[in-house]
Amino acid sequence: MKSWPAVAVPALMGVHTIPQISLTNSKTLTKELVGKKDIYRMYVCGITPYDATHLGHAATYLTFDLINRYLLATGAEVLYVQNITDIDDPLLERATRDNLKWEDLATSQIDLFRGDMVNLRVIPPVHYIGAVEAIDLVSQAVTALESAGSIYSIDQDLFFKNYSSPDFGSLSHLDKESMKEIFSQRGGNPTLPGKIDPLDCLVWMAKRENEPGWPSVHGVGRPGWHIECTAIALKYLAPSESDATCIDIQGGGSDLIFPHHEMCASQARVLTGKDLAATYVHAAMIGLDGEKMSKSKGNLVFVSKLIDSGTDPMVIRFALMSQHYRLDRMWTQELLNESIVRVSNIRKALQSSTIAPTDSVIGQIIHSLSDDLDTPRALAALDTWAADCLKGSSGGDAAELRCLLDSLLGLAL
Ligand code: ZN
Repeated sequence: MKSWPAVAVPALMGVHTIPQISLTNSKTLTKELVGKKDIYRMYVCGITPYDATHLGHAATYLTFDLINRYLLATGAEVLYVQNITDIDDPLLERATRDNLKWEDLATSQIDLFRGDMVNLRVIPPVHYIGAVEAIDLVSQAVTALESAGSIYSIDQDLFFKNYSSPDFGSLSHLDKESMKEIFSQRGGNPTLPGKIDPLDCLVWMAKRENEPGWPSVHGVGRPGWHIECTAIALKYLAPSESDATCIDIQGGGSDLIFPHHEMCASQARVLTGKDLAATYVHAAMIGLDGEKMSKSKGNLVFVSKLIDSGTDPMVIRFALMSQHYRLDRMWTQELLNESIVRVSNIRKALQSSTIAPTDSVIGQIIHSLSDDLDTPRALAALDTWAADCLKGSSGGDAAELRCLLDSLLGLAL
């Protein structure tokens, strides 16, 4: 799948110490230092293209963009892979509802997503892989799970026994009743007759009438969602034998912790004998004006519509970074208005003839980001610096600060 155009990331000017970043690991529920490496392997779950990028998606991809940028600044290479679930039930349901061909709906929404990512200056993944193009890969992974004795069939559909991995449940920390409830809310079917365990998940779905299907050794059908990500991550991130885990970071929105990431982790352990990721990072949810933002409520705010109505993408980026990625938070007109003023003040300060000293604010931004991506603290330091400029403080280097904001925060100001 074609990714979106590259975003230039300038090398930092001046000499700065870039400490190793610490991130909150959803598995251990603690903030952990990410060890120093030459190559980091990061997998972030992509969209199902039946609705364009809403602010919740944007906040998630922005979080991993900040991690990507920070790891790059340490001098490391970041092998970043993202999937796109371009065949799944929600896509087919939406296409039927809107009387569209599912392929056309997917193509139009993927194009919108790419455009949003470009506008928000999100660095594209090295590999951007669609489910349809990964069907052989998924089929091979299912065969490998079958050889491990972890697959059974109900009619022509194939299911994976999640408890094949003894530490299934160790990522989400949920009890079984909660798992069943959430599984059922998020596309699973715990009560399906014939299941060995209610939490076993679909890995290959036989073709249904009037639905697409692809030939495979498992019959004509299509892949399940969890195995799609597991197979793509293990193939395109090419895990190193010498690493203790398959990859370094697996990420997505916090609604993916269970069942999606728990089930991917279980499949990866059966396939490789290792944990899928060293660190599982999850971005919290964005609401609107005090309410949960959701398709069912019809209150999704789309990035493309905000930009079309004249909102500066850098203001959107700034507003999303003004609160911490791990906090469920609200999008409001007030937040947008505040961000417009703050970005304007920083732009004015960068262009003013008297630039307040920049060494300290640069140090504070780097330090704040290294501490579990504390963007609110980084942006507050920037506000203080901008206020000092307006008071006439001098001696700073605007070019050096502008370069840092571009490189680490993705803000082109
Ligand atoms: Zn995924």
